[in-house]
Amino acid sequence: MKKRIVYADHNATTPLSPEALEAMGPYLKTVYGNASSLHVFGQESKKALEDAREAIAGLINAEKPEEIIFTSGGTESDNMAIKGLALSSLNKGKHIITTQVEHHAVLTTCEYLAANGFKADFVGVDKFCRVNPKDIINAVKPDTFLVSVMHANNEVGVIEPIAEIAKLLNIENEKRRSAGHPKIYFHTDAVQSAGKLKLDVAALGVDMLSISAHKFYGPKGVGAIYVKRGTPVEPILHGGHHERNLRAGTENIAGIKGMAKALEAACREREKEQPRLYFLRDRLEKGIVEKIPETTVNGHYLERISGTLNVSFKYVEGESLMLSLDLEGIAASTGSACASGSSEPSHVLKAMGADPATAQGALRFSFGHQNTDEDIDYILEVLPRIVSRLRAMSPWWAKEHPQQ
Ligand code: PLP
Repeated sequence: MKKRIVYADHNATTPLSPEALEAMGPYLKTVYGNASSLHVFGQESKKALEDAREAIAGLINAEKPEEIIFTSGGTESDNMAIKGLALSSLNKGKHIITTQVEHHAVLTTCEYLAANGFKADFVGVDKFCRVNPKDIINAVKPDTFLVSVMHANNEVGVIEPIAEIAKLLNIENEKRRSAGHPKIYFHTDAVQSAGKLKLDVAALGVDMLSISAHKFYGPKGVGAIYVKRGTPVEPILHGGHHERNLRAGTENIAGIKGMAKALEAACREREKEQPRLYFLRDRLEKGIVEKIPETTVNGHYLERISGTLNVSFKYVEGESLMLSLDLEGIAASTGSACASGSSEPSHVLKAMGADPATAQGALRFSFGHQNTDEDIDYILEVLPRIVSRLRAMSPWWAKEHPQQ
């Protein structure tokens, strides 16, 4: 088969869609006013900003557009949710509950706070990467003020039971009110689910939700956080009066317009596109398991976002595999793009109880708009050959398969 270029790393980032680019065009070229300026130039930008806010609020079923705050992306949204609430809880609560499988934007923020006067508990997951809602509730302390659990995991694609956790937290909050304990607010990092799953903040029952445009064919460096009315977040960036004093800095109107258009398109196409990606992913999964012995599919078989496949090949380093695939034109990943370059095995696979060899041999494929059946055929032709070659060089494989 002829060499192809296959981009299978959409969980790291997606290309900008032509639709989003078109929506951004005027704000990169002719409409340049500062949305805080009162003159006509500024007011044109201000209108674009508020239209985008309204569109995003509608797409995630927020009650009011003001509940959407624009940020520079998922990392900032997560930091704002956690540090912003921590700052407002200084004299009320000190304890945060999160999980062991969060993105580093949440994990290291909680670790930072825990090293600076707060406390954090990192709840574990089962072997499929699912959090048990009861484990979250069991971790609650009198001074807990925040629970942060991701909607879909970036490495294995597993979907967490957000609505169930919210229900249990509501019951807990009722009890706490009569006991005089601080309310527990609930944040979800929906960076990997936005555009792939239906995002309805009311149905999910969350107080805060983070999204990032570049994961759903919008531009990089722009995101948003939903903050439910009455949730007492403090700003983490100080300066001007932008975003209702919650996030200082001149708004990136082009980026924000691109994000709103990209989310609108993703929501519109979701019902058609997601089953297509589900089918591609499943074909690859079946093909790999059939063709390559001693492989493990990591994650939940059902509760998984459609385009993500994380699979471990025994006796092979995920990193060597990824680099060999790259030479053949296939872009995949060993897990989180933010953690690549570190030789540490994935914290997500470790939390799922994977043995070190399984964790080291993991490879993530994540599919999107431009992927086709031919891409899957190509991966299924190239991958078994590469795995066999790498295994043949592994002393460990030779030791366990002396006759081959
Ligand atoms: N949260 C999750 C689950 C992610 O996958 C990512 C990016 O990979 C982030 C947060 C960070 O988002 P951003 O790259 O926009 O800062």
